[in-house]
Amino acid sequence: MRKRSAELYQKALSLIPGGVNSPVRAFKSVGMEPLYIDHGKGSKIYDVDGNEYIDYVGSFGPLILGHAPAEIIETIKEYAEKGLSFGACHAQEVTFASLITKAFPSLNKVRLVNSGTEAVMSTLRLARGYTGKDIIIKFDGCYHGHADSMLVAAGSGVATLGIPGTPGIPQAHAHTTLSLPYNNIEAVKKAIAEHKNNIAAVIVEPIAGNMGVVLPQENFLQELRSITAENKILLIFDEVITGFRLCYGGAATYFGSSPDIICLGKIIGGGMPIGAFGGKKEIMDCIAPEGNIYQAGTLSGNPIAVAVGIKTLELLQNKDYRIIEQNTLYLTKEIEKRAHKKNVPIRINSIGSLFTVFYSHYPVYDYITAKESNPEHFKRTFKRLLDSGIFIPPSQFEASFLSFAHDQSDLEKTAAAYDHSFSE
Ligand SMILES: *Cc1c(COP(=O)(O)O)cnc(C)c1O
Repeated sequence: MRKRSAELYQKALSLIPGGVNSPVRAFKSVGMEPLYIDHGKGSKIYDVDGNEYIDYVGSFGPLILGHAPAEIIETIKEYAEKGLSFGACHAQEVTFASLITKAFPSLNKVRLVNSGTEAVMSTLRLARGYTGKDIIIKFDGCYHGHADSMLVAAGSGVATLGIPGTPGIPQAHAHTTLSLPYNNIEAVKKAIAEHKNNIAAVIVEPIAGNMGVVLPQENFLQELRSITAENKILLIFDEVITGFRLCYGGAATYFGSSPDIICLGKIIGGGMPIGAFGGKKEIMDCIAPEGNIYQAGTLSGNPIAVAVGIKTLELLQNKDYRIIEQNTLYLTKEIEKRAHKKNVPIRINSIGSLFTVFYSHYPVYDYITAKESNPEHFKRTFKRLLDSGIFIPPSQFEASFLSFAHDQSDLEKTAAAYDHSFSE
């Protein structure tokens, strides 16, 4: 069934740590072996053994247009002909910066990097340099990439593997990070009162996607905005997942919030490695060469990645986000209906085109409640879904993503596969 994948994995184990280039891909928490993908098209991916799967991983977020859209592939070819990297300025960077800043009300300037991790890392340096303060507040179960200070109580792979996340990180770094329960404004108030004069920034996933999907409760983001502003603390929205996921723009656009800095990645690269961070002019002007906070990158603003980013955003401008939102609503309602019929306790958190099924009796609103989800149940469902040709993230603590390529027949097959997975 997955013979070629199994062979490749065995070989990889002796050559690559854990056989993988990013931990969640190892399928460890579901007690299986990884899939090796040969190609993807539209809503589907195909492994090296020729199995077809309807894909809800979407490369962990970037592929909102589905796999290998024709216009994107054309763009790559066109720009590849012109050269792969210049280490110098090119026109497309200006177009891209203009598109991104226009999509977010609070964003005047933006700089490109090569990943979401890099965007967050650079943002934290900027926040500390700008404010002259050291401490960053984050939230338990949120993931902001693998920069040192952000791995304290982190989501995504750290949560999936159930490991501490902090080996290899100097104590001093861990001590400049305060991790608080998501959706708990009282905890933020308390931390600010205690450390008032040394907090540079609060960084938050405006919709958490890395402990599974967890929505901000009413007023959480507004209160974060007002309490940070009152105390001259910067508010950073990590929109690496939410950027262009819920609407043309980000969660800041969607909720009408105005954070000081926004981090982007995933969708803005359309599947190419890219990240970006941007904010108000007076903050962004602190970065070299305008200011003295250093940040750089040999491949930053890579012409092909940028061309794909521009094309992705242009295509998204003409998409109706209500369609994927409605498709997601349809699918989650179907899953819910079937679970209830079979007395399987589930809670689905969903917004826009992302959702997570938690196997729990209780609402999930932070990392502690997310961890209430029954891991055995998740594991069984994952395996059954995979065997029925449905690929969801191999971890309870990740979001499933719909793309514009998913159609009604995909959704019906997926609902039926969930139904089957609930059968025993
Ligand atoms: C994926 C992710 C990152 C890290 O981005 P990489 O490109 O994997 O480095 C940061 N923040 C959030 C919210 C993410 O989901």
